[in-house]
Amino acid sequence: MRILLQFPEGLKQKALEHAKALESEGKEVFISASPTFGACDLALDEARMIKADKLVHFGHAEFHHVDFNVEYVEYQIDAPLDMLPKSLEYLKDYGTIGLVTTIQHVHQLDAIKKFYEENGKMVKIGRPFGFAKKPGQILGCDVGSAVSVDREVDAHVYFGGGMFHPLGALLNTKKPFLVVEPFTSTVRFIDEYRDKYAKRSKGKVLSLIDAKNFGILVSTKNGQYNINLAKILKKKIDDAGLVGEILVANTFDFMSLGNTRGFDAFVNTACPRIGVDDADADRAIGKPIITANELMQVITIKGELKHNQK
Ligand code: SF4
Repeated sequence: MRILLQFPEGLKQKALEHAKALESEGKEVFISASPTFGACDLALDEARMIKADKLVHFGHAEFHHVDFNVEYVEYQIDAPLDMLPKSLEYLKDYGTIGLVTTIQHVHQLDAIKKFYEENGKMVKIGRPFGFAKKPGQILGCDVGSAVSVDREVDAHVYFGGGMFHPLGALLNTKKPFLVVEPFTSTVRFIDEYRDKYAKRSKGKVLSLIDAKNFGILVSTKNGQYNINLAKILKKKIDDAGLVGEILVANTFDFMSLGNTRGFDAFVNTACPRIGVDDADADRAIGKPIITANELMQVITIKGELKHNQK
């Protein structure tokens, strides 16, 4: 049996170990060396090209069904819970809290919930919209577990590392948002980012009032491909008397994108986080990446200005 192994960056150091173990069982093993960002980004082209019988994708749960033999190997990480007592000081004014985490720590949610309940809190664990699969789990593009309980809670608590996941949940909810990072022993509210990102978004829209040429980004990654949205956006752009062209790539290399001169902005239809919280991308390209929603705001404002000038 021929197998292609695929690891996210944080688990690539495990590749050799897994390859050796499978080879000792008589399997023929290949390792994908491409970057991968999630189960939305399976190495299907590589697997088909080398005629693999199976792709083994490590570190993420299934995102959606694909027409290939894929085995998902989730990685659970037991994070220390010793920052929970400290988090109580931050949560003293909040009786009901929503609890979210990433796939690596979902198995710890029961223990965390129990801790807060024993300390007088009511705990709500929401359900994802569909790309994430487990209650309380969030992905960068599926923060349903936080959104679904936003009305019922006084504050949200994200347990886990990094800012990528909690930022997505923060930007789609309204309640105070506490991050408990077990590996850096940090507890902090991140609410100030709501304002920061709202201002950034508004700034991008206003900077594009004179824009004429828009590149629409379509990724061929299995879970990010959205040609239908791209076509709808192209029509909206055309109808507004502007120019829209669709650009296709698997992974968008921002330096390379910057070489496609002539575009005033790029409209993202791929991973919804591209351009939202990635100021580096805008800097590398030299032009803003905007969301479909921001594009519609630009078109509306341009239309109003044109109307007022008549
Ligand atoms: S946030 Fe982006 S990279 Fe992460 S799973 Fe969703 S589409 Fe993929």
